[in-house]
Amino acid sequence: MSAYDFDFFVIGGGSGGVRAARLAAQRGVRVALAEAQGVAGLGGTCVNVGCIPKKLYSYAAHYAQAAVEARGYGWQFETPTLDWGLLKARRAQEIARLNGVYDQLLRGAGVTLLHGHAQLLDAHTVRLALLNADGSTHHQTLTAERFLIATGGSPDVPDFHGREFVITSNEVFDLDPFPSRLVIVGGGYIACEFASIFNGLGSKVTQLYRGAQVLRGFDDEVRHFTAEEMRKHGVDLRLNADVLRITREAGGLQVLLKDGGHVMADAVLYATGRVPNVRGLGLEAAGVAQSGEGAIVVDANYRTNLPNVYAVGDVTARVQLTPVALGESMQLVDHLFGPVAGKLLRQMDYALIPTAVFTHPSVGTVGLTEAQARQQFGDVLVFRSEFRALRHTLSGSTERTLMKLVVDAGTDRVVGLHMVGSDAGEIVQGFAVAMRAGATKSVFDGTLGIHPTVAEEFVTMR
Ligand code: FAD
Ligand code: NDP
Repeated sequence: MSAYDFDFFVIGGGSGGVRAARLAAQRGVRVALAEAQGVAGLGGTCVNVGCIPKKLYSYAAHYAQAAVEARGYGWQFETPTLDWGLLKARRAQEIARLNGVYDQLLRGAGVTLLHGHAQLLDAHTVRLALLNADGSTHHQTLTAERFLIATGGSPDVPDFHGREFVITSNEVFDLDPFPSRLVIVGGGYIACEFASIFNGLGSKVTQLYRGAQVLRGFDDEVRHFTAEEMRKHGVDLRLNADVLRITREAGGLQVLLKDGGHVMADAVLYATGRVPNVRGLGLEAAGVAQSGEGAIVVDANYRTNLPNVYAVGDVTARVQLTPVALGESMQLVDHLFGPVAGKLLRQMDYALIPTAVFTHPSVGTVGLTEAQARQQFGDVLVFRSEFRALRHTLSGSTERTLMKLVVDAGTDRVVGLHMVGSDAGEIVQGFAVAMRAGATKSVFDGTLGIHPTVAEEFVTMR
């Protein structure tokens, strides 16, 4: 019998923490999981204020576009209007259902759930501020042989005059009232996705990005194409636009720009990146090493500088995506407690992470950008196709689709695959399997298309 209260103590009930706790418990390990927000926080950022509610709102926004396009197909109806209050309530109901599913999954696996904030006192001891039903807290100290820190991250808003007037992605889902005029600052995933979503829901959206083009890190052609398509849909995207200050005026919030211009808004959303959740975690007391930005530093097996303390997901500030946090947890649990009987040890592959940006139209991408491929391989072949999808021949929409393959000329391997268009994430997911299997352009060429689809373009480009 171990001298500790638990074999494995997980701090944080988000994507990474829940997966690690459940898999470890299924292997007979005595597991506890502490979630600062209680049951309502289970699922973490992704379930509560990230991927899931964002995608639900993205679907909601698409219906507005679909209603306009339906007229081109002969449908006749009154212009539909959005009941924002109903959408918010329906979303909250679904998220509460998911919180309950996570609660049951964890309990079913035998995980001891602790509702409260956890703070390390040393490498084997944790102090919990447990939530009481009336909102107050009481404290408990527990010990564990091993700890996993999966505390995620939070929005980071720079300091400037008027910072108190802005909201972040944490608050945007419950905005009240619906913002007729929304200013969004940033040019990354969150800024672009919410610009498309609120534009679709009916806001007048102005997106301000400090650089020359949004979505830094993506293929350059994809970035330009996405920006143009977002504009065509109605987003007022302004590049090289820096906020000087924000003041509250009679007509709303006034966003003053460094070039002297200004924009009036009902709400201002800052989507300027995220920082690791490490405050009050006791990292100094326990002696856990952090990078300059506060991220927990881990080795290839997610071990910190302490032999019994591990970290996965956004708190390590590497690739901030749910499937990455899940993949890291699965590798960690296999590594610590052994793989599932008959299966190999799982190993995260950071080389070919597929990803989507749920803008309208959406972006899907896997592998290298054209510029990265040229730098890595020198001789690169690029195949691209830009067209109006069949659906839009009658819909009246001028939306265009971009599809692009980047091929290493030396080996014929497809090393980058990019798309801007409807359902890009759904399409790229399948091609990511082919790329992991090392598919060459000849394999793509020898694959029959499914006609008529948009996806078939990836196997017919010559
Ligand atoms: P989290 O999910 O953030 O979970 C951390 C948990 O730890 C939280 O529940 C927190 O309450 C808890 N916690 C923190 N400190 C303590 C403490 N001291 N004690 C106890 N509990 C604590 N990724 C995608 O792949 N696809 C998407 O479409 C997508 N959309 C996103 C949209 C938005 C608006 C945002 C913000 C993120 C999105 N992401 C998306 C990113 C994804 O949500 C994160 O990468 C993922 O949730 C990280 O999981 P995690 O386990 O590291 O942390
Ligand atoms: P990102 O890092 O993607 O983007 C941050 C943006 O804010 C960049 O455009 C950056 O500009 C800009 N910025 C940073 N600091 C400032 C500043 N001081 N003033 C003005 N602009 C600034 O972060 P997000 O917040 O958009 O998202 C966080 C992460 O969450 C993403 O990187 C992604 O991993 C994950 N996510 C994934 C989604 C998905 O899978 N669909 C959806 C949403 C989030 P610059 O480029 O010039 O640095």
